[in-house]
Amino acid sequence: MFLGRLAQVTLRKSVQVCPKLSRSMVTDGNTILAESLKKQGVEYVFGIVGIPVIETAMAFQMAGLKYIGMRNEQAAAYAAQAIGYLTGKPGVCLAVSGPGLLHCVGGMANAQVNAWPLLVIAGSCAEDHEGIGGFQEWPQVDSSRLYCKYVARPPSARLIPLHVEKAVRLACAGRPGAAYLDMPGTLLLSEVEEEKVPELYNAETVKLAHPDPALVTRAAELLAKAERPLVIVGKGAAYAQAENALRKLVADTGLPFLPTPMGKGVVPDTSMQCVSTARTQALLKADVILLLGARLNWMLHFGQTPRFDPKVKIIQVDISPEEFHNSVKSEVAVHSDIQPFVEALSTKLKEKKFSLSPSHAWWQALAQKQKANTEFVAAQANDVSTPLNYFAVFKAVQEAIPKDSIIVSEGANTMDIGRGLLLNDLPRHRLDAGTFGTMGVGPGFAVAAAQWCRERAPGKRVVCVEGDSAFGFSGMEIETMFRYKLPVIIIIVNNNGIYSGFDKEVMADIQSGGDPAQTTPPTALSVQVRYEKMMEMFGETGHLCRTVPEIQQAIKAAVAVTDRPSIINILINPASSRKPQAFNWLTESKL
Ligand code: ADP
Ligand code: MG
Repeated sequence: MFLGRLAQVTLRKSVQVCPKLSRSMVTDGNTILAESLKKQGVEYVFGIVGIPVIETAMAFQMAGLKYIGMRNEQAAAYAAQAIGYLTGKPGVCLAVSGPGLLHCVGGMANAQVNAWPLLVIAGSCAEDHEGIGGFQEWPQVDSSRLYCKYVARPPSARLIPLHVEKAVRLACAGRPGAAYLDMPGTLLLSEVEEEKVPELYNAETVKLAHPDPALVTRAAELLAKAERPLVIVGKGAAYAQAENALRKLVADTGLPFLPTPMGKGVVPDTSMQCVSTARTQALLKADVILLLGARLNWMLHFGQTPRFDPKVKIIQVDISPEEFHNSVKSEVAVHSDIQPFVEALSTKLKEKKFSLSPSHAWWQALAQKQKANTEFVAAQANDVSTPLNYFAVFKAVQEAIPKDSIIVSEGANTMDIGRGLLLNDLPRHRLDAGTFGTMGVGPGFAVAAAQWCRERAPGKRVVCVEGDSAFGFSGMEIETMFRYKLPVIIIIVNNNGIYSGFDKEVMADIQSGGDPAQTTPPTALSVQVRYEKMMEMFGETGHLCRTVPEIQQAIKAAVAVTDRPSIINILINPASSRKPQAFNWLTESKL
């Protein structure tokens, strides 16, 4: 293997500079870092090399880690946290000093806000150049502190294993999040006698936190007495891998459940008990809510009026007790991992012979709303006049893609409307802009998901559904997908703009009024951009679609390709929008 050999030569060179010690006894910072990560169970590194981390990446590969070189550190940080969410072990994002680390800041913040494990490692300027204008010198440790659960610069190569263990542990334990390790070039190249490097810092696997039985009993009593109970399944339940326990609870009790965007698939979207199509009513009318691994933040309208009944009783289950009673006071707050709690609750409810019959008034009310909403969506989706609307596009996409695909999605209307029509029947099969609403995450997430599929679910596909604006943030990662032979199906829903765009005539008219910087609407993008032609950079052809049959044909062709990405560019009506909402999508501030 070329890279492997190059790495060996480079590393040997760096080790040979120490005259006093025989080679077999000496190791260096790069090697210690690589081996420490391997020992802590890290599998994947996403990054961009440069001074001083080229040898670091090579050492990673030699230690058996998988290294994926990307085109922007921000996308690398997104990829690394997606792997963290999918596997429960943080991916590493490797960056160069100064600007390289600063490009990761958006990724660290996104991981922290999403509560996903991530470990960023950046090279930094030589310690003897600090303070005198070193190359790419920046206070990297301080800069990262705001975004991380743990930040450190190991004081010596010998102590690297200690800090790697701690960084991995803190990224995963309790509420997951980001960690940062700062590696000056001098530290990476410094040499240590092998025997002085402590063998192994290894935390025992932390046992799952179990719930207080008294609180489980109270939760069961509340649910059993409820008139209009509702289960909310959050991405904490997905991260907790609690799908088996939750599916059983829902099946045994007949309770209606509502997944949050990334809680989709923990219990299948196609379950009759999924009330996503009656979301507004379910939230507004529920009298007892079982909140499993979700925060009552903006995504759930803070749990407050006018979106919730002010008298609603919340049973809140979270791994992080700091989250309890945030925004509204919970009736029962249970500090527990989702899985043991749900198992215990199932047992208790079984003892009570609790089950909500489909003929119950609550189910009748929900079913009525589900029907009305489904009919509205069907009417839009069946309107296949061109230029197409969002609903018709997503209906066609849903019908044509393999049903077990991982869906990555970002954009405004593309993500919001797509969420309702693109169904997930499997957990952790939806990756989107998340709690932080970050645009630009899609291609990085897709790279990570496709790499995950390669090893853990061969044949499973990643479908990356992007708005045209969202795609622009990290579109160059198409080259990464090509280089690593990742068969991501990128679907760009192209409406010429942010939220909505303009057609050719209107744009020409608007811009004829003077300086484009003063006349071009801030939401506008160029009209009918041929994004699919990016495939031509690699000697391949992409797909341009304007009709439903063209979409079907393009997806069929893309599914048949298994060794490279595909781009399907769907030109839609720039004025297409979502259905009228009963409430503003973003809860208004009451200040
Ligand atoms: P959503 O976006 O689905 O609403 P959030 O990210 O807001 O979800 O909330 C997820 C919650 O799940 C966080 O409060 C986090 O502390 C919690 N959580 C994460 N892992 C677990 C786990 N294993 N068991 C219980 N709660 C968890
Ligand atoms: Mg757009």
